[in-house]
Amino acid sequence: MTVRIATMGMAGCSGCHIALLDIGVKLLDILKDVELVYSYPLVDTKNPIPPNIDVALIEGSIRTEHDKEMAEAMRKQAKFVIAFGACSAHGGVNGLANVFGGKQGVEYVYTKTILMAQKLVPSEHVPQILTNDLRLSDVVKVDFVIPGCPPNPDEIASILTALLSGETPTLSSKSICDECPLERLTEAPAKLRRIHEIPEPDKCLLSQGFLCMGPATRAGCNAECPRRGMPCTGCRGPSETVWDQGVAMLDALAAMEEDEISDFKLPRLAGTFARYTYASSKLDNLRKGVQKE
Ligand code: SF4
Ligand code: SF4
Ligand code: SF4
Repeated sequence: MTVRIATMGMAGCSGCHIALLDIGVKLLDILKDVELVYSYPLVDTKNPIPPNIDVALIEGSIRTEHDKEMAEAMRKQAKFVIAFGACSAHGGVNGLANVFGGKQGVEYVYTKTILMAQKLVPSEHVPQILTNDLRLSDVVKVDFVIPGCPPNPDEIASILTALLSGETPTLSSKSICDECPLERLTEAPAKLRRIHEIPEPDKCLLSQGFLCMGPATRAGCNAECPRRGMPCTGCRGPSETVWDQGVAMLDALAAMEEDEISDFKLPRLAGTFARYTYASSKLDNLRKGVQKE
């Protein structure tokens, strides 16, 4: 039976769609049983969304009224909706705009940055910008999430293959630390270290003082970054047992001396500990609640 698949892009960078193409030759096997009925990089999005879609992959966060309408229209036609990538699943890096409180961030970009010659927030012939960046599940029901910024092509392939065979795909419930080969040290790090410093090989980066988000991040990428000497920045979002990714990381650092942490002048807590999840974090929920009153 042919499965009707659609893909769509909201506020994103198209990187998730590129990851889909990065599946490579295996994509030809997947496409054998697929009819691609609507795809944001291939069709004019002014075309109506066709009916009877089996699986819809939606990339990007919801940033405008138009994004919201398109997501709702796709949900009406699709039996199974996938939040495709970190922006769609958790708000993504776009969500950091919420730190400035909705409209203030938009005004800053259009009126203060040197790239914008007119110094005006556009209001005509453009979709209305929402006050806050939203994840897809804030707007429509989501059936499954493919995490990552961008998602891993092998994982996309195995999830699509499972769906095409009528199986329910699953994600790892563990954390990146559970699949990381680096050796954990028992003592807390003596000081925080910066990204340009060279770590000792084969030793856990967090134990050496690098801000590695591994303990609070969902496994499934085979600890791609730490095994190459780069701290995990948390792009797969919180692991199954983590209540809030940023709060969990602050908790992991609690064993350190307070002076050490404040001396480090963590540039922006949100950008460090909730880089991909701020729009869906408890901190942002609190801010939205306070601003409502
Ligand atoms: S999740 Fe990453 S790769 Fe995908 S649209 Fe967002 S920023 Fe781009
Ligand atoms: S390097 Fe990062 S992912 Fe690996 S064990 Fe240490 S904290 Fe966990
Ligand atoms: S190690 Fe962390 S930042 Fe790197 S791909 Fe995996 S989840 Fe993303």
